[in-house]
Amino acid sequence: MRYQWPEGYRCAVAVTFDFDAESAFLFREPQKAATSLAGLEERRFGPRVGVPRILKLMDRYDLKTTFYVPGWVAANHTEAVKSIRDAGHEIGAHGNVHEALDHLDPAAEKDVLAESLRLLETTVGVRPVGYRSPSWELNMGTPTLLKEHGFLYDSSLMGNDIPYWVDTPKGPLAELPIQWLMDDAPFYRHVYGATNAIAEPDRVLRMWSQEFKAMYEENGCFIVTCHPWISGRASRIAMLETLIQYMRSLPGVWFTTLEEMARWHVSQQGQV
Ligand SMILES: [Zn+2]
Repeated sequence: MRYQWPEGYRCAVAVTFDFDAESAFLFREPQKAATSLAGLEERRFGPRVGVPRILKLMDRYDLKTTFYVPGWVAANHTEAVKSIRDAGHEIGAHGNVHEALDHLDPAAEKDVLAESLRLLETTVGVRPVGYRSPSWELNMGTPTLLKEHGFLYDSSLMGNDIPYWVDTPKGPLAELPIQWLMDDAPFYRHVYGATNAIAEPDRVLRMWSQEFKAMYEENGCFIVTCHPWISGRASRIAMLETLIQYMRSLPGVWFTTLEEMARWHVSQQGQV
C-alpha cells in the first residue's frame, strides 16, 4: 500500500468547493468590478443558485465535504454560508477578499489572515482548521503563519498526490494536495481571448473518472476543486452526480472532509 487509509479504505475522495462569489473579481479587477454589473452577476450565480444546488446534491448522497470561504463572502453572503454550515459541511479559510498571496508582503498577509478569521467568526461563528490559499499562491512563510494561527492543514500545493508534510520552524503542517487537472475553472470558465474553449461535461467526467481510477489503484487521495459560480450550472452538477455514482460503485472509497483526512494524516505522523 502506498498510503494506509483508515478502516481498510483503498483511497480517499473529497469533492471540495471554493466559494469565491464576487471576491476574486473585486481583488483582481477592482475598477471593472466597481462598474460591471455583468461581471458581478456572473459570480453571484454561485450563492444564488450554485450553493443550494450543490447542497442538494451532497444531501442526496449523504456526503459531507469542505467549502473554502473568504471572509468577505461570509460577511456579504452570510445566509448562503450559514446554509453550508448548517448542512454539516466543513468551512475552511480562503483569504479575506480572495487576495492572491504573491501580491502581499508578510505584514499584509498576516493582516489579511487575521481579518478573514475575524469575519468568519463574527458572521457565521466558525473557526476554521483548514486553509486553502486564493488562486493557490503560497509564500515561503505562509505554512509557518498557518501553524502560528493553529491551523491543522493546508490544501493549496501540488507536491504529491497523497497527504504529505510541509516543514516549518513551528513543526510540520499537513498538506492535502490539489492540482490543475482536478480544478473546474480551466475546463469551464469563459475568459475572452483564452485558448481553452468551454469543455463539455462529458469530457471533464472522462478525465476525472480516469484520474480517480488511477488514484484508486495507487491508494491516493482524489481532491476535486469546484466553484459554485462555475460548477453550479445544471449540466455540470449532473456530471458531478455521475462522477459520485461511479466512485461509490467501487468498494473501499472513503468520502470525507479534508478536516477528517488531515486528522487521519496527523494521527499517522510516526508512519508516513
Ligand atoms: Zn478561490
